[in-house]
Amino acid sequence: MASIIDGKAFAANLRGEIARKVEILKQNHSLTPGLAVVLVGEDPASQVYVRSKGKQTVEAGMNSYEHKLAAETSQQDLLELIDELNNNPDVHGILVQLPLPGHIDEEAVINSISVDKDVDGFHLSNVGKLSIGADGIVPCTPLGSLMMLKDQLGDLSGKKAIVVGRSNIVGKPMAALLLKESCTVTIAHSRTQDLPGECREADIVVAAVGRPEMIKGDWIKPGAAVIDVGINRVPAPEKGEGRTRLVGDVDFASAAEVAGAITPVPGGVGPMTIACLLANTLTACCRANGLPEPDGLTF
Ligand code: NAP
Repeated sequence: MASIIDGKAFAANLRGEIARKVEILKQNHSLTPGLAVVLVGEDPASQVYVRSKGKQTVEAGMNSYEHKLAAETSQQDLLELIDELNNNPDVHGILVQLPLPGHIDEEAVINSISVDKDVDGFHLSNVGKLSIGADGIVPCTPLGSLMMLKDQLGDLSGKKAIVVGRSNIVGKPMAALLLKESCTVTIAHSRTQDLPGECREADIVVAAVGRPEMIKGDWIKPGAAVIDVGINRVPAPEKGEGRTRLVGDVDFASAAEVAGAITPVPGGVGPMTIACLLANTLTACCRANGLPEPDGLTF
């Protein structure tokens, strides 16, 4: 059986480490990192995420600034708020919760965030920096996935990795990070031929597809490390009528019999995403003030 990578515990440790570093910043430099989160509209899932981000930001000793705007807010008003946050020296990280209402151009909004405060790592300049292997800000979910992989496997150099999914927020940055670690990287997607065969070649499988339990145990090379980014809600009649449960993109039961290590869903990659958002905010605060980068939080 694979060892289970406990993302919940890993994230808790990381948050503890960040809180210690924040305390040192406060004591030695009178600095408190600040994260501004902007939510437009009332999407219930986004409201839950924003609440949770705010709570964990404060628990890490940082300042949290929440801006909740009505769904009908104009793009111009949103851009003006971002401009204000860009110019506010107490704000070191800015996150605009996606998705935005249909009348707002997401790309224009993301690219209006100051590159150095773009703690989601979605700004074109940060995307470009990652693609050439330069230091920028790395998207949180791939960053958390890489941290767990390195903790599990140590040096990744020379390993064969497959990333299933080529989205801008997970698949592509994940592949770029693995390449930066000198893995030999395959990026698979909906047009990939013989996906099971491609997966069987890999020492590292990262699944970011959004299809419940698609990747089966007999697709996994014995001993491979499996990172399941997928979060899918499926019916769970065994829990009662109308009830649901969360599953990943990997069929956990069969994959855990073959893999060397695997992340569960829930409790794997998910908790690492907010922890890495805090890590990125701390890094942005150090950079903005000309202080050394915090150890182990950047790649
Ligand atoms: P996305 O934008 O929908 O991208 C899905 C990718 O999977 C696409 O590249 C698509 O290929 C590929 N794909 C779809 N069907 C496929 C198939 N049958 N075979 C091979 N590839 C296939 O999704 P995303 O935003 O990257 O998210 C992926 C999953 O991760 C979702 O379950 C999401 O909820 C989860 N997620 C979790 C976190 C977290 O914090 N843990 C964060 C972000 C996302 P094409 O490009 O060819 O269409």
